[in-house]
Amino acid sequence: MAGIFASASAARYAGKYFKETVMPSQHPRPVLSTPVPSRRAAEAAGPAAVEVIYHHGHVVCLDREESVCQAVAVRQGRIVKVGTDAVVTALASADTLMVDLDGRTVLPGFIDGHAHPSLAVRMMEKYVDGRFRTTPSVAVLLPKISARAEQTPPGEWIIVASSSSSQTRFAERRLPTRAEIDAAAPNHPVMFLNGAHEAVVNTQGLRSIGITKGMSELRGALIGLDADGEPTGVITEGMVLFPDRRVPDDDLRRYYASAIPQLWNANGYTSVYSMTPLPEMAILGELATSVVPTLRYTIAVFTDPGGRYLPPTFEALGFPAGSNPDWYRFAGIKVWADSDLPMRGGAVFEPYEGPDGGYGLLNLSQEDLDVLALRVHLAGLSFLVHATGDRATAMALTAFERTRARADGKTLQRIEHFGVFMLGPDDLTRARRLGIEANVQPAWLTTLTKSTIEHIGAKRARGAFRFRSMIDAGIEPGFGTDLTGIVLETLDPFLHLWAAVTRSSDVGPFVVEEAVSVIEALRMLTIWAAKAQGEEASKGSIEVGKLADMVVISDDITSMPPDAIRDLKVLKTIVGGRVVYESEK
Ligand SMILES: [Zn+2]
Repeated sequence: MAGIFASASAARYAGKYFKETVMPSQHPRPVLSTPVPSRRAAEAAGPAAVEVIYHHGHVVCLDREESVCQAVAVRQGRIVKVGTDAVVTALASADTLMVDLDGRTVLPGFIDGHAHPSLAVRMMEKYVDGRFRTTPSVAVLLPKISARAEQTPPGEWIIVASSSSSQTRFAERRLPTRAEIDAAAPNHPVMFLNGAHEAVVNTQGLRSIGITKGMSELRGALIGLDADGEPTGVITEGMVLFPDRRVPDDDLRRYYASAIPQLWNANGYTSVYSMTPLPEMAILGELATSVVPTLRYTIAVFTDPGGRYLPPTFEALGFPAGSNPDWYRFAGIKVWADSDLPMRGGAVFEPYEGPDGGYGLLNLSQEDLDVLALRVHLAGLSFLVHATGDRATAMALTAFERTRARADGKTLQRIEHFGVFMLGPDDLTRARRLGIEANVQPAWLTTLTKSTIEHIGAKRARGAFRFRSMIDAGIEPGFGTDLTGIVLETLDPFLHLWAAVTRSSDVGPFVVEEAVSVIEALRMLTIWAAKAQGEEASKGSIEVGKLADMVVISDDITSMPPDAIRDLKVLKTIVGGRVVYESEK
C-alpha cells in the first residue's frame, strides 16, 4: 500500500500491524460483551484458581522498593502474587497455565501518556507519506503527490502527512508552495500537513474550504496572505478546517476496537492516553459497553485549540453506565495554550532567532485559560494544557495557581510537552509547588533538538529536555509518544528510553548532564506516566493488586551498555494477564 508504511524503515513498526495476526495466547480472546471482572469482583471471588503464572523471569517490578523477582501470578486480570519461583508457583493448581519466561526481562507494561491514536491510524491508512525519513526534499515530495493524484478521482482530497518543522529539514529549507502543489495535482484539492499545527493548501483546496482573497481568519484558523491579499496557501492552527475531520463511524470503530490496540501492543504498550476529538466520543461510548480491547484507554477530549467550542457542561462527556473504567476511562479536557515551537508557534517571552523573530502564537488569553481551568476543576476532571514556549508554560502555571486559590480540592492539572523545548527560570519550582504533572517526549531529542536551537538559539535551547533537573526538582515526568502518525518512529519505546539515558540527539550528545538513569527512564514510561494520569494505584508497576499488564523484552535493560537500549525489542505484551502480542521468533 502507498503511504506511510511504504518505506523499509517504517516497516519495522508497521509489520506487526498490517501483516501479522496477533498471536493468540492459550487464554481465550475476549468475547464481545463479556464483562471484565473488577478488582472488587476479584476479591469477592475469594480463593478462585490462579489462572496464569509467569515464572523463571527477571521481573523488574519498578515498585518503591525497586524489587526484582522471578515470577508473577495472575487471577482475574490482576496480580495476586509476586516473588521467587518457589513462592509463586506454590499457588498453581491443575487449572493454572504456567508460562516459562526463559530468563527474559519483564517490565510493567508501557503507558503511552499522550497520543492521537485514531489520527495516527487514519494517516497510516489514507495519507501520502511526506515524512522527512522517506521524503528528504520538496523535489521528492511533489512527484509523490502527482502519483497519488493519478489514483484518486478528481475533486477528492489528497492529504499529505509530514513531520513538523519540515522547512528546517527539506533540502530546499522551505515548504512546498501553493503553486508547486497546483502543478503536481491540478485537479485535486491538496493539503500538506507540516505537523499538526501548520498546513499548505493548493488552489483547489482553498476553494473547497471556502477561503477567498483578503480572508485572514476562518473559524480560528489563521490564513497567510501575500502583499496583494492573495492567500499563500499556508494555514496555521487549521485543524478546524481539516477536510478529513469527520472520520466514518465504521473506520473509527475498527480503529479503536482493533487497529490501535494491535499497533500499540506490538510496541509494548498496555495503556494509551488518547487525546480524542469530541465527535469520536459517541463511537467510544458505544464500544465501551460492547468491546473489551487489548489496550486500556484513558481519554481526554478536545474541540478546538482554545477550547472555545467545548460544551457548556461536561457532565455528558463520560462513558455510559456499564462500561469498565479499567478499559475505558474518561479523565480530562485538553487545550492548546500555544501552537508548536518547532514551527515557531510556541508562545515565547523573547522573540525567536532570525530576522522574522516573532513571539509565537497563543490560542487563548490568560483570562480565558483561567476560566476554563476553573470549569474543568469544578467538574472534577483533569486539565491538560499543551504548552511549548516559556510564555505558554508560565500562563498554564498561573491558571493552575489561580484555580487553587479560587476553589477547594485538587484535580489533576498537567502540562503537555512540559519543558521539552524550553523552561523559564521559575517553571520547575512553580510546577513542583503546585504539584503539577508533566508529560514529556524524550525521543524528540533525536528529531527536534536541531530545529529548537535554530529557532530559540543555543542559550535558551539549553533549557530543553531537562529531565534530570525535573527529577531533581521533585517532578516525576510521565512519558507520551504524542504519536499522530506523522513521525511513526516515536512509537518505539526504546527510542525514548535510549534518548533519555544517552542524550543522543540530532546534533550529537545534547547537554549530557541532563541524562537520567535507566531506572528513571523506565519509570517515565511506566509508573510516572501512570501517576501523571492519576492511575498509579492500578498501573505502572508489578505489584499485588495492580492490573496484570507487563512487557517481556529481548535483553536485560538494567545491565546493558546504554547505547544498546536502542536495539531492544518487545517479545511479548501482556494485558490483564493475557498475552496480546508476541513477536515472531
Ligand atoms: Zn499531542
